[in-house]
Amino acid sequence: MKITVEEDKCCAGGQCVLAAPEVFDQRDEDGIVVLLTDTPDSSKYEAVREAAQICPAACIHVADN
Ligand code: SF4
Repeated sequence: MKITVEEDKCCAGGQCVLAAPEVFDQRDEDGIVVLLTDTPDSSKYEAVREAAQICPAACIHVADN
């Protein structure tokens, strides 16, 4: 799995962090998403896919290897 995020589309709501807190964080100053890892281990795949589905800005993209 390879994750990319489009920071310029992020609306800083933080749903991704709730879904997968070990993969996504938010910048302190403005809440924009911070990707903690773009290649999570397989135990995180389900949470990452959920985050991508619920992201209101559809700015989380997941590619399978
Ligand atoms: S769920 Fe999407 S829009 Fe919301 S903070 Fe995460 S990446 Fe940004």
